[in-house]
Amino acid sequence: MEKDTGTKKVLNDDSRKILQNTFKGLKRRVKIEVFTKEGSNEPFNNLSINFVRELAEITDKIEGSFLKIGDARAKEKKVEKSPTILIDPDKYNIRYTGAPAGEEGRSFIETLLMVSADDSGLSEDSRKRLAKLKERRHVQVFVTAACPYCPGEVINANRAAVERPDLVSSECVESSENVDLAKKFNVGSVPQTVINGKTINIGLQPEDLFISGLISLEEQKAPETAQPGEDIIGEYDLIIVGAGPAGLTAGIYASRSGLSNVILEKSIPGGQVAVTPVVENWPGMTNVPGKHLMDLMVQHARSYTHIHENEEVLEVKVGRKIEAITRSGRYLGNALLIATGATHRKLEAPGEDRLYGKGVSYCATCDGYFYKDRQVIVVGGGNTALTDALYLDSLGAKVTIVHRRGEFRAENHLVESVKERKIEVLWDSEVVEINGKERVDSVSIKGSKGGKTKKLKTDAVFVGIGETPLSEIASSIGVVTNEAGFIQVDQTQRTNIPRVYAAGDVTSGIRQIVTATGTGAVAALSAFQDISRSRKQ
Ligand code: NAP
Repeated sequence: MEKDTGTKKVLNDDSRKILQNTFKGLKRRVKIEVFTKEGSNEPFNNLSINFVRELAEITDKIEGSFLKIGDARAKEKKVEKSPTILIDPDKYNIRYTGAPAGEEGRSFIETLLMVSADDSGLSEDSRKRLAKLKERRHVQVFVTAACPYCPGEVINANRAAVERPDLVSSECVESSENVDLAKKFNVGSVPQTVINGKTINIGLQPEDLFISGLISLEEQKAPETAQPGEDIIGEYDLIIVGAGPAGLTAGIYASRSGLSNVILEKSIPGGQVAVTPVVENWPGMTNVPGKHLMDLMVQHARSYTHIHENEEVLEVKVGRKIEAITRSGRYLGNALLIATGATHRKLEAPGEDRLYGKGVSYCATCDGYFYKDRQVIVVGGGNTALTDALYLDSLGAKVTIVHRRGEFRAENHLVESVKERKIEVLWDSEVVEINGKERVDSVSIKGSKGGKTKKLKTDAVFVGIGETPLSEIASSIGVVTNEAGFIQVDQTQRTNIPRVYAAGDVTSGIRQIVTATGTGAVAALSAFQDISRSRKQ
């Protein structure tokens, strides 16, 4: 979407073309009501009005009404914030408080399709559990424009509102346009889910956990042993686990080789790059937001293969066929490619877990907005820390980098940018504790070479100290990993187990987007060779 403040077009030509196609899926007419109040939260009022007008121009299945806050309809629907958008308000209680101008625009479009089909799309199990709900639930999901995880949580809420329109209402709250609400609920990391006024969760949840929290109003922890499904979902030549750069590239190469394949992703596609503010070393693009680069890769991969999102592989069994088992059921394959990537490493400092979402963050792209004019520290000396520091500085935050040594390990280009922007650096320093009652208010820092511990005031701590590989499923079937848990592969991306391959950040070696895509391609072609050979035998 092109952000616009006046009467200019909101949607560019490419978005219009995509939406023309998407809206062929609308099953019936959907009414959208936009409420605004002049002078309040401009320019987002115009943005919302123009956005809905343009959607209604693309298809006659969308009908936009433009109303004023304070009029009878606004009072009837209890709309007080400008702008507010209601979707199909005669049937459902789904609202966007704030313009859906960022990532949450994706959830808005998906919700139009959902309500037009009058089908929540929830699993049978979730439907059965929601059918027993007896009390009202109002779900508020706080989002920011740049947060790629936010639309998924908004969709969880909207699905519940479509399934139980009598009892469940959902509200996507754009935090930057509703600072009072964000403050009221102490929002510091998004998506933050508040149900009936109580914060239930921070982060994108799998559907079953979201439904549990909705019903119980208790914060949900991932169950120690999620229930694996039993039904056979499909049979493929190659099952790819993970939809980051490696898995997506493997899907493209496998399909083009003629291998049937599926990509199983436990969360949203895009991997860690989707939350990298800016990428400057992807050949052909001097400077591209990580999310945009991954959107292009995901779109490309989807034109070849299927990506099953929110589909975590809980267990793998290697027999004549390889089975990848998820909550939905069993995927059978002749070969398996593990491209599960890595996750951010934790500092393991006291206060880190307790203050997560209250100033401690691992995602500058998602949460940077909340600290745009505040004091923040970034911990680390690699590419992640410096990219995050530069992004936070560009938002207007007062950034201090805390690094345990006397020199950075990041690319020289990033180091030079940090110098140019005169970002403060505390060298030879370690964060030993994160302090604060309700929110982060300081960190305790100790010199790496000794010395006294001192306190440094800060509103947030962004941790960028490297990665931990997500290699549990590999280890569970006997795939050899190195001491740090990264999978060991040969030059052809084969592991020690026949028909099991690995690629990208979960493997040992250089961890860059180009190498992830390269190893994804090599792994897919190795699988192709092995499968072709076995077919000839
Ligand atoms: P990294 O390159 O492993 O760097 C981690 C940094 O954190 C190092 O400076 C390390 O210090 C420090 N560190 C590690 N453990 C620490 C601890 N317990 N306490 C304090 N400091 C600690 O990790 P990364 O920056 O997250 O990058 C991960 C991979 O992704 C790398 O391969 C990187 O090149 C890649 N990446 C690339 C880009 C890009 O090219 N645009 C962007 C992001 C990430 P020492 O230096 O003392 O070891």
